[in-house]
Amino acid sequence: MQFSAWLSVTASGFPYRKLSRYNSYVVVNLNIAIVHTPKRIAVLGATGSIGSQTLDIIEKHPELYKAQVLAAGRRADNLIGLALRHKPRLAIIGDESLLPQLRAALEPHGIATAAGPKALAECVEAADIDMVLTATVGYSGLEPTIHAIKAGKDIALANKETLVVAGNLVNRLLDESQSTIYPVDSEHSAIAQCLRGENAATVERLLITASGGPFRTWTHEQIAKATPDDALRHPNWSMGAKITIDSASMMNKAFEIIEAHHLFHIEPSRISAVVHPQSIVHSMVEFTDGAVKAQFGVPDMHLPIAYALGCNTRLSGAEKSLRLEDYATLTFEKPDSKRFPCLDFAQICLERGGTAACAVNAANEVAVQSFLQGLITFPQIFEVNMLTLEASTFVAVPEYEDFVAVNAEARRRATEFCKSI
Ligand code: NAD
Ligand code: MG
Repeated sequence: MQFSAWLSVTASGFPYRKLSRYNSYVVVNLNIAIVHTPKRIAVLGATGSIGSQTLDIIEKHPELYKAQVLAAGRRADNLIGLALRHKPRLAIIGDESLLPQLRAALEPHGIATAAGPKALAECVEAADIDMVLTATVGYSGLEPTIHAIKAGKDIALANKETLVVAGNLVNRLLDESQSTIYPVDSEHSAIAQCLRGENAATVERLLITASGGPFRTWTHEQIAKATPDDALRHPNWSMGAKITIDSASMMNKAFEIIEAHHLFHIEPSRISAVVHPQSIVHSMVEFTDGAVKAQFGVPDMHLPIAYALGCNTRLSGAEKSLRLEDYATLTFEKPDSKRFPCLDFAQICLERGGTAACAVNAANEVAVQSFLQGLITFPQIFEVNMLTLEASTFVAVPEYEDFVAVNAEARRRATEFCKSI
């Protein structure tokens, strides 16, 4: 490992969160910092779809990146294998009952171990962490992200639920911190790429593309009978189970509209979803002169992950290149919120603000799990989310503790609705 350090002046990507202050995307964010090479990364969610693709990139570019902390939820064997391969300083398992297994396997190799949500949240604060990649699922991403912001760490954010649940709070904390969030979600990475060099005042609309999921062409009646296997069969992307179900219900797109609003500070009425079944155009920005910029690429998360790890800079050595001639047609259509009512949660949650999206997110996590276990039907995911939203406590200007309370309450209520529905 290289321990050399030097003074570096870097022009990192445009600072989205400073848009309101500078009203321009051309402001160069000058970071003057002691930079370690390789950049030391805490990979939260290391055994998952995003986590393992991140580790591919880290392994391919040891001169640039080092996995300093690896964290996972329950797959101890998998985490042990990754830790022996990447030799992080620390490995963390979410499920505390698995700590003895982790400790026995890793401590003889000089790898420290820890367990539980507190260890996950606090590991990001260590002085030897330069960047945090958050790729755990759902609400679990919020607490470590807040710790990372308070510790002034840069964040490659895959866990969109963090911004869905508490986007306003996250932005408030970012304003008081040196930390910057770089989006990993492919649509938001595409928008960041399209906005580079542009003046914020000339942005008319953000167009977030959606594959339409496996039920794009299904009727109401077919969707009502959809099984977990049907919903897990995503046409273009290979992802974790939760986001795959969210893609089938289009809840994922509702979340991404909320995520875009908080990341790019664009009002909800100027953010739309467009169904693009080929998943080649990853999103678009329309400008005041009528120009529309799009980012094209194969449906593969390596590119947006690498772009975020590099603080919105490009790596050489693409995993896969796009051959447009392989695609006979690229098509775009309007989303159908009659068959996919979860899409409306973007507007509902952004209009209500406060803890509304926190309640919907919690309900959705419970509902998706219940659907996968065969306890509710696919359309009942929407019903459980709506019933929970209406039944949950609403806090208009929430602090962190309010999110904790509303998340817990909404989970309780959603679990009851799943049993009684
Ligand atoms: P996944 O299910 O494949 O992996 C999740 C990882 O998080 C696993 O390592 C799991 O062990 C870990 N984890 C889950 N809960 C945890 C907890 N409470 N504590 C510690 N670790 C925990 O999920 P994924 O598809 O990689 O998605 C991760 C996040 O990235 C989600 O928020 C998702 O919406 C977002 N995202 C994923 C993709 C994709 O292509 N997979 C694309 C865009 C955004
Ligand atoms: Mg996405």
